[in-house]
Amino acid sequence: MIESNVSLKNFNTFGINVSCKLFSQTENEDHVRSVIQSSEFSNNTPLILGGGSNLLFTKNFDGIVLRNHIQGIEVIEDTEQHVLVKVGGGVVWHDFVLYCIEKGWHGVENLSLIPGNVGASPMQNIGAYGVEIKEVFHELEAIHLKTGEIHYFNNSDCQFGYRESIFKNNLKGEYLISRVVYKLFKKGDFTISYGAIEKQLEIMGVQELSAKSISDAVIAIRQSKLPDPKKIGNSGSFFKNPIVDKSSYNTIKSSFPDVVAYPAEKGFMKLAAGWLIEHAGWKGKTYGNYGVHKNQALVLVNYGGASGREIYDLSEEILNSIKEKFGVKLEREVNIY
Ligand code: FAD
Ligand code: NAP
Repeated sequence: MIESNVSLKNFNTFGINVSCKLFSQTENEDHVRSVIQSSEFSNNTPLILGGGSNLLFTKNFDGIVLRNHIQGIEVIEDTEQHVLVKVGGGVVWHDFVLYCIEKGWHGVENLSLIPGNVGASPMQNIGAYGVEIKEVFHELEAIHLKTGEIHYFNNSDCQFGYRESIFKNNLKGEYLISRVVYKLFKKGDFTISYGAIEKQLEIMGVQELSAKSISDAVIAIRQSKLPDPKKIGNSGSFFKNPIVDKSSYNTIKSSFPDVVAYPAEKGFMKLAAGWLIEHAGWKGKTYGNYGVHKNQALVLVNYGGASGREIYDLSEEILNSIKEKFGVKLEREVNIY
């Protein structure tokens, strides 16, 4: 069914009050194909929507929104070491993480409590606490929005990078990711040397590491630090951490010796964008009903009733001030519509 003039307020975690011209919630592959064969679809710009937790609407969407709701979790290979699990793109990501933990599989525990759906997880190669999905990603199925054909993408086809994939770049807007196959492990190492995980495990008195204890630690840290989108509208980190070459890093470091940075690939350095924004004086700034979060300067927030345009304009001011103060060009992580 295709509906007209549907509010998107409850379909984006920023809580922006906009609507779309046409809307359809797709439950399975045949349903997707029937929508994309319709004249409403071919005459309008499409937008695939998951949980709406990584986007900002700056105006009403004058096109057709397909909300991917394909469900299902199916084990397709089970060995002594690993399982391959095929997951519907409409499954809530954190529900999938909890499912893996309950089964004793590991690989996604550091990615606990990331909002959104499985279908969007490859879009920006979601990552947190030293783990990215590319480490456990096996394959995905995607429906081509022009032909309705299913195409398969393996790990290298997806061209995963730091909060990047081919679906955010060359293939932007061409596919609906319908199912993702993840490879989870029955034994192996855990990643705990990142951020506050070790400290949190200590506070919790954890003696023996497990996927469950790491997940519990990550959940506790996230709940103490990040605004819950159910209470305060936001889309997580608004900007990506910029990757700069060594000489730019040294220049910044000579003027700002405390700058927080970590080694990145190929000798580059990753600057903590939150540190830059905080030290440009933005942390906690509030403009009526929107602003910069008080605990995490990377997160822009809507306290209720702000427009997407106001939040976008604030992000533009932040970008300009970081360029001026540190000579660094920030990039938005959130998708703007
Ligand atoms: P949406 O916001 O619905 O869509 C995002 C983009 O993907 C859009 O361009 C959309 O068109 C496209 N898209 C969505 N589904 C599909 C599909 N099935 N096929 C094709 N295109 C699709 N991200 C991290 O990486 N790490 C974090 O730790 C993290 N923490 C967060 C914390 C908070 C509080 C919030 C609000 C967000 C956080 N995010 C984080 C960002 C966000 O949760 C993830 O990027 C998530 O994967 C987005 O999923 P979604 O289903 O909400 O996507
Ligand atoms: P944090 O632990 O305060 O760390 C600040 C920044 O430093 C992070 O962005 C992180 O980069 C980097 N960092 C910390 N320890 C590192 C290490 N050992 N090696 C390399 N880089 C390190 O960050 P936070 O804001 O509380 O977030 C915790 C984790 O959740 C981070 O991984 C973050 O990416 C993720 N997160 C993402 C979003 C989003 O919307 N994308 C929202 C909230 C949280 P990375 O970001 O590259 O990891």
